[in-house]
Amino acid sequence: MIICDFCSSPDVKWWYPARDHDCWAVLSLDEENNLESKTARSVGAWAACEECSKLIEAGDKAGLLRRSVKTCERDPLDPEKKITAIVTADIHAGFWANRTGPRYEEKGGERVEKNSL
Ligand SMILES: [Zn+2]
Repeated sequence: MIICDFCSSPDVKWWYPARDHDCWAVLSLDEENNLESKTARSVGAWAACEECSKLIEAGDKAGLLRRSVKTCERDPLDPEKKITAIVTADIHAGFWANRTGPRYEEKGGERVEKNSL
């Protein structure tokens, strides 16, 4: 199932074309205690629901970040929330830096471009 890349809503309406890029990395120890890095790569367009798309179209980066962190389904008092916000901000920075064009909808397998709000 396709979900919004920003808030995980299943109601995806828009797509944002973007260059492929590394979006986050984690360091861990392998079985011999050597540091190993694992990198997640963003490939292709980003999916967005109507609400997240409104924030993107308005250029409201802080609002989009708040929405993403809020929908992580964590207790707001959870100390990990701050870490989640930092990681999410990093992932969003990759989106803003690698977005390549206007949003579009897919209808019947066809790509339909719409102007920004
Ligand atoms: Zn969303």
